[in-house]
Amino acid sequence: MHGLMMNQPLLISSLIRHADTCHSDTEIVSRLTEGGIHRYTYRDAHRRSRQCARALLRLGATDGARVATLAWNNFRHFEIYFAASGIGAVCHTINPRLFPEQIAYIINHAGDHVVLFDLTFLKLVEALRPHCPGVRHWVALTDRAHMPAGAASCLCYEELVAAESDDYEWPDFDEETAASLCYTSGTTGNPKGVLFSHRSTLLHAFAINLPDVMGLSARDTALPVVPMFHVNAWGMPYAAAMAGAKLVLPGPGLDGASLCELYQAERVTFSAGVPTLWLNTLAHLREKGIRLPLPHRTIIGGAAASPALIHALESEQGIEVRHAWGMTETSPAGTVNTFKGKHAAMSAEERAAVHAKQGRILPGVELRITDDEDRELPRDGTAFGNLLVRGHWVCREYFKGEGGSILRPGGWFPTGDVATLDADGYMRIVDRTKDIIKSGGEWISSVDLENTALGHPAVGGAAVIGLPHERWGERPLLVVVRRPGQELTAEQMLDFLREKVAKWWLPDAVVFADAIPLTATGKIYKLKLRETYADYFAKNPGTSGHTGAG
Ligand code: AMP
Repeated sequence: MHGLMMNQPLLISSLIRHADTCHSDTEIVSRLTEGGIHRYTYRDAHRRSRQCARALLRLGATDGARVATLAWNNFRHFEIYFAASGIGAVCHTINPRLFPEQIAYIINHAGDHVVLFDLTFLKLVEALRPHCPGVRHWVALTDRAHMPAGAASCLCYEELVAAESDDYEWPDFDEETAASLCYTSGTTGNPKGVLFSHRSTLLHAFAINLPDVMGLSARDTALPVVPMFHVNAWGMPYAAAMAGAKLVLPGPGLDGASLCELYQAERVTFSAGVPTLWLNTLAHLREKGIRLPLPHRTIIGGAAASPALIHALESEQGIEVRHAWGMTETSPAGTVNTFKGKHAAMSAEERAAVHAKQGRILPGVELRITDDEDRELPRDGTAFGNLLVRGHWVCREYFKGEGGSILRPGGWFPTGDVATLDADGYMRIVDRTKDIIKSGGEWISSVDLENTALGHPAVGGAAVIGLPHERWGERPLLVVVRRPGQELTAEQMLDFLREKVAKWWLPDAVVFADAIPLTATGKIYKLKLRETYADYFAKNPGTSGHTGAG
């Protein structure tokens, strides 16, 4: 017997309509690419999204057409999110930090009909155009006054919007319709498209607004540091509209000073971003002696947040840190770390151990760990294995079937991560499968070594890679970036680690660098490091004097 409740499709347009109905005067504040701050409200955003919807339809973006963006977090990008998906087209957010060849590949693979770009990316667009013949329109996200000479053959967003009325009703359609498309950076092979549906987007938005996840409310001022071109800014534009939270969109200003200015001026209560951006911001806060307004809770994910970073933000600033894990393929929220009531009774050290984990499994998501024979491993917080995921907002297939059938028996998606799970549902990332160091038949977690190194007060950045080794298979090399003005020798670094990690985990060499290379999504670019230091042990034979796993 079926239940007798209404069955309305879960559509993204319902979010912006709701925000207009209940939060018409709540602000959306943007730092503009052209300079200055722009302010308007959810009502304005809804009106302009409808105008934008009509403009996109006029440009021929019909059902399922891919509407691509190369844009920062700002109000125009926000409008396109709702306009493109609202008409039944697909909002394809492109990461401008990828190599131009990769971007051209992505545009062609996606079959983008129109590309809307911020002026920052004009040069990039000029380079892309000859390689992307399928794109019918290139639209500069600005007004006529700011259109540069180089954009003469492009359309002007503000003109397109101004030419349309807001007399537009969002259509109803199947909630399984594709809404947005995001390519994974893919360090090997071509990038693959993850195609989110209206249904998955809405269910994800409901879930991230649970109190133990982002928990956005109509009392929050939320700033997505995470770009809208990286897994839809982790769903924040949708979740903020759903909750009626004030939104602050930082545009191209992702440096510590620009972010702190917005945190202070707009009294931001919630932010989300990758660890490196918080590291930069923390350095700025320390240098200038700034205390941010409180309360402020922040989600840090996309790469491991070290216990040192979590502790510094909490003890120096009073910011509540929620460590989170996810992937493009999981929309991205998979786990988020908040304490349970029972943890209050624990010692500070025990709580720190819980806090450093990647967090508790969200309802709507399931995780399991298996060995290489696909046997499930115990949820005891110790056993670690291949992490598998399934759930309402997890991808079942890449766009255009790229990579073939990706699911394991039982409908599980293999994450490529190695993790532990515990009896309370907390997951801890041990490493990426391809980054874990296999030394003498035992595994060394590069993430754990990095986190431990980051605990040294003179260390500003740390990366660990495994390099081929004749006897042990692989041995770790530690790359360290010293904090400005700090002295640190390789021997001092090793002495510090010696007290904290097993003897055979000790890196065979410590090298110092000016910066850790990062990927387009802010992760340590290990492939590049492995290339840079490929023959380090061969060239420095004295360095490999460890005792190995035996
Ligand atoms: P992406 O699809 O580019 O967002 O990358 C997803 C991958 O980032 C995951 O499979 C993890 O390897 C890594 N990742 C995400 N969040 C974390 C985290 N909190 N700690 C460690 N690794 C993470």
